Amino acid sequence: MSIAPAVRTTCPYCGVGCGVLATASSAPSSSAPPPGAPSTGAPSISLKVTGDPEHPANLGRLCSKGSALGETLGLDGRLLTPRVLGQDTDWPAALRYVADGFQRIIADHGPDAVAFYVSGQLLTEDYYVANKLMKGYIGSANIDTNSRLCMSSAVAAHQRAFGEDIVPVSYDDLDLANLIVLVGSNTAWCHPVLFQRIVSAKERRPDLKIVVIDPRATASCEIADLHLPVAAGSDVWLFNGLLHYLHEQGLGDRDFVADHTTGAARALAVAHNTAGSIAAVARRCGLDAAALAQFYELFAGSPRVVTLFSQGVNQSSAGTDKANSIINCHLLTGRIGRPGAGPFSITGQPNAMGGREVGGLATMLAAHMEIENAEHRRIVQRFWNSPTIPKRRGLKAVDLFEAVHAGQVKAIWIAGTNPVVSMPNADRARAALSRCELVVISDCVADTDTTALAHVLLPAAAWGEKDGTVTNSERCISRQRSFLPPPGAAKPDWWIFAAVARAMGFTTGFEYSSAHEVFLEHARLSATANDGGRAFNLSDWATLDAASYATLSPRRWGDRPFSDGRFSHADGRARFVAATPRPPAHALDAEYPLVLNTGRLRDQWHTMTRTGKSARLMAHSPEPFVDMHPHDAKAAGVRVGEFVRITTRWGKMVARLHSSGAMPRRMIFVPMHWNDTMSGAARVGALVNPVVDPLSGEPEFKHTPARVSAFEVAWQGFALSRTPLTLEDATYWSRTLGDGFQRYEMAGRRVRGDWSPWAHRMLNGNGNGAPRAGGDWLEYVDRGRGVYRAALVIDNRLQGCLFLSPRPDLPPRSWLSSLFAHDNLTHTDRMGLLQGRPVDASADLGPVVCSCFNVGRNTIAHAIREFSLKSPLEIGKRLRAGTNCGSCIPELKALLAAPEPA
Ligand code: SF4
Repeated sequence: MSIAPAVRTTCPYCGVGCGVLATASSAPSSSAPPPGAPSTGAPSISLKVTGDPEHPANLGRLCSKGSALGETLGLDGRLLTPRVLGQDTDWPAALRYVADGFQRIIADHGPDAVAFYVSGQLLTEDYYVANKLMKGYIGSANIDTNSRLCMSSAVAAHQRAFGEDIVPVSYDDLDLANLIVLVGSNTAWCHPVLFQRIVSAKERRPDLKIVVIDPRATASCEIADLHLPVAAGSDVWLFNGLLHYLHEQGLGDRDFVADHTTGAARALAVAHNTAGSIAAVARRCGLDAAALAQFYELFAGSPRVVTLFSQGVNQSSAGTDKANSIINCHLLTGRIGRPGAGPFSITGQPNAMGGREVGGLATMLAAHMEIENAEHRRIVQRFWNSPTIPKRRGLKAVDLFEAVHAGQVKAIWIAGTNPVVSMPNADRARAALSRCELVVISDCVADTDTTALAHVLLPAAAWGEKDGTVTNSERCISRQRSFLPPPGAAKPDWWIFAAVARAMGFTTGFEYSSAHEVFLEHARLSATANDGGRAFNLSDWATLDAASYATLSPRRWGDRPFSDGRFSHADGRARFVAATPRPPAHALDAEYPLVLNTGRLRDQWHTMTRTGKSARLMAHSPEPFVDMHPHDAKAAGVRVGEFVRITTRWGKMVARLHSSGAMPRRMIFVPMHWNDTMSGAARVGALVNPVVDPLSGEPEFKHTPARVSAFEVAWQGFALSRTPLTLEDATYWSRTLGDGFQRYEMAGRRVRGDWSPWAHRMLNGNGNGAPRAGGDWLEYVDRGRGVYRAALVIDNRLQGCLFLSPRPDLPPRSWLSSLFAHDNLTHTDRMGLLQGRPVDASADLGPVVCSCFNVGRNTIAHAIREFSLKSPLEIGKRLRAGTNCGSCIPELKALLAAPEPA
């Protein structure tokens, strides 16, 4: 066993961009690879991950996802060799195939017949090379990214208002603000470390006010002084109303507006016409007029306001207008470019911002320059010394997949993303790829819904194996550093793009030998012909030597943008944007009476290809679900705990019904994470309408008309097994990883007279009832009630168990999961298996609440009762729950508030 020194790197998940200290220890590989699998030669690695106390984004904190990074690095499921048409091959052959394919299609159909679809997970250096290849050498702007789905409305709003895509706020401003408004942002779950920073600020300064504007009563409401459950899609009315109110009260900063902006009169006229009274705005937004007035007064009376907004604003057919209506209020009051004040778009992905900086979207050029600006094109083409440069914008994500479907785009290279799960109308994206002439995918994961459609798979290095930089939500550039060797034939993404470029004959321009070289070129381009007109300027970084790049400390570019009142438009003035409110594109009707809203869960990331590998993270929400108001459930004739079908005009899925208490009437929430490898029918992207914002192209993930109906099953149940199972006759299934076992939830319509042979086939590998050598088969049948239980015990360890019932009254999974840790099942354990509940009730710790320390709900409820605990702090002292990332504190508070903790 050898232990390497801790490496300073950055978390690969959300846009907070937390610093991580990673300490890898390795032992020689003890096992041969499975038959047919390549030898990776890789030692077995264990990784200790802690927060970096010196990183300004997190000062040592990590959330549950960041803390579990070490559990996601196993090589199971990794793509380790290039594959062409299903056959493993080597890099030269794969590169030749990709280059020939792209060249042939470009020669026959022109450069716009090919496209790249990349990811906010890529490092800046990867993004830079991909963008340079597509725009400067292939000659098309058809490179878009999954960041289009996340924050492109904020980008478009920044460009309209400021003349450049600049986030004018930093995390420090949260510590200085006296009002923080969270709009369309469940910060507690989606940016947990930043949320904890806000929590600490409020603890230090109880006069700091927090307002949450969100249709759902999310976990972020835990610290809210005021929650406005705004009707879905009505934000522009709300902020136009605020603009009008501020103006009417004479609270605008006249000097700032006169000296540094244009367009105020028209924006105010539109605000007056569309949101001229608090009563009218309250009606339109579905709000209590007094609560709305309270918010307006708070905003008016708080000189230091940060309005933090996220996907609830951006993912809308009016997302750009929504963001501009927020920015308008900051411009009117001059609350921008000043300490503790500004509109703050927080990004979902770790390097969405870096992608924006290199121009890795179809609507940008590079280094904050514009495609449709001839001077910018000249600067970039001359700098790249490139043969070509596109004059027009390329296809944005939704249009891009439509163009693939229509056969206009004939070759697509997808890097580090899973669009068959994450795109709206995702079945259409799947159909598009299945008919595409050439689908190339570079990824670190072998089997995803999207890789299943690839002609060529190129193995990419994963987090921990690659080097480069990322830029977080506050413009802070940090290093991601490698601390593991890439396994098999995996390569960094920048290397793969450069190698394909050279194979296509672009022998100059792509001779990089390191991420450092790419970064220097990117920094030099940002400084080229930049006389201060573009705020994005990395000239200070452009001469870093290799040692300085290796040891680069996190640093923000742009100290406090707009502090001098100068914006990036040619006249130096910011623009008010007159935002005429409009409802979501598709209205509810009798057939589809509910709004489908999609989003993230606390412990999951994107399509679960990484967080799905951590049993600890899967424990919090192990099954696809839909959250619904109880009155809507009653009206739809469905019951909590049972399965329901969710249907939209674009698709349907099945999930278990929850009613968390967070949902308003006429809205349902479905997590975005499940894919077809984890469940039979829970890919919610397939249900989402593909309408987009006309400017940004961002899809309307937050508003698809839907209906919910009963999903009738004759039986339901679950199986836990140390080995993967083949499920028979399951009309519904989902799979999750436990600690040492797999968990399958399932349901079906065909009732068997005798479940025993079926159960034997599944758990025992045969249908004749003979237990395996050394094994005991425990079985309980109650034909009258339709209950069936079986367990296979081998060498006195639980190998697998299965529980079926016509109702959802099944045994506690948490207790059964704990039996897999027992090396010697007791007589009492066996009794419990047969009776379907623990003989000693305290053996059931309950569903996981605190993922960091694996503390269950029953344990917490018991401690609250036993020790008369009164606060999350007291719970933390006794059980550690809530003392690491703090993400579970809202749930701890709910348990404390429950009249009878159960
Ligand atoms: S908040 Fe969590 S997921 Fe986001 S960067 Fe920090 S540790 Fe990673």
